[in-house]
Amino acid sequence: MTSTFEIAVFAGDGIGPEITDPTVKILQALSDRASGYTLQFTDAAAGAAHYAKTGESLPSASMETARRSDAILLSAMGLPDVRYADGTEISPQIDLRKALTLFAGVRPVTVRAGQSTPLNMPKGKEIDFVLIRESTEGLFYSQGHGEVTENEARETLLITRDISEKLFRFTFELANQRKAQGRGPGRVTCVDKANVFRAFAFFRDIFDAEAAKHPNLTADHAYVDATALWMVQKPWEFDVLVTENMFGDILSDLGAGLMGGLGLAPSADIGLDNAVFQPCHGSAPDIAGQGVANPFAMILSAAMMLDWLGIKHDNAEMAADGKRLREAVEAVVAEGKVLTRDLGGTAGTAEAATAVQAQLVLEVA
Ligand code: ATP
Repeated sequence: MTSTFEIAVFAGDGIGPEITDPTVKILQALSDRASGYTLQFTDAAAGAAHYAKTGESLPSASMETARRSDAILLSAMGLPDVRYADGTEISPQIDLRKALTLFAGVRPVTVRAGQSTPLNMPKGKEIDFVLIRESTEGLFYSQGHGEVTENEARETLLITRDISEKLFRFTFELANQRKAQGRGPGRVTCVDKANVFRAFAFFRDIFDAEAAKHPNLTADHAYVDATALWMVQKPWEFDVLVTENMFGDILSDLGAGLMGGLGLAPSADIGLDNAVFQPCHGSAPDIAGQGVANPFAMILSAAMMLDWLGIKHDNAEMAADGKRLREAVEAVVAEGKVLTRDLGGTAGTAEAATAVQAQLVLEVA
């Protein structure tokens, strides 16, 4: 039986539409060839350009589409010159994260043999770990609520039992899935600063309680400062890392740096009912409209979406297509013949997307 899945597509601002177009075409081609699933795409308007035109950054109809869809594919949003009246940036992706309680920010970091990286990789080593960033509270809870007087500024970090329990349950499940797929040894590391802050000791205690339910997995702890060091010195030893929002924000950019830049960094923000898949980079207005944007992070995000939908709905064909799509991008990047400018190559967006299709042996309309 073929199951149909609705995908809400937010093409967004800047380079957003340019990288969304080839990504949706690849997904459509995979869906056309599949016998066990069909993807149906619904465009949803949102973002800075939409705000400039209409005065709304995330219209309720788009929010409704996002809420009822099976998954949300979002490119990039925000433009430096378009701001709300109070001067803050337009970021509907953060509004979606809050409204849909997408607590688990999943940031994979992979460096395959042959791929360019600023690290000196020992021969035969590859990097393949996942950083999970809590995405609804932590220090970001304070966003917009900071107290500033002439002589003092205060921002408050919040860690709740409820979200932490959900976060760690998700994290250990992911480690189990990676172990079953042969992608990791089944090791989960809680990244915190429990030696200094009580809030992180609380975070760690909740982590330990979840860890006790998974005797088949290894659980350990690391301080965030040491983790930053090890991400540079021996990142191939990590499997699944889980951390607070602000720490995760910083470490995920370090992870993107290991991969050779933001243009290769996909992400997912996952809750109990909804999930958003989007590249880590922004709307890159400096190169928008030139056809030179790197589509790989967006395509890798789409691959994560297929993988997540496939596992959630027990659809092995869709999960396998997600894996194939990820491996196709990884192969193109490792081969190094077709790379966009941000990766040191000369290819444009279309050429880069075509190389992925060729790797998949996929005819795209
Ligand atoms: P945001 O705050 O919205 O995340 P940002 O300030 O981090 O955005 P980006 O929009 O991510 O900035 O762009 C940072 C730099 O990286 C820019 O020079 C941009 O051109 C480049 N860049 C970002 N994404 C891509 C991409 N997909 N392809 C090529 N270059 C990119």
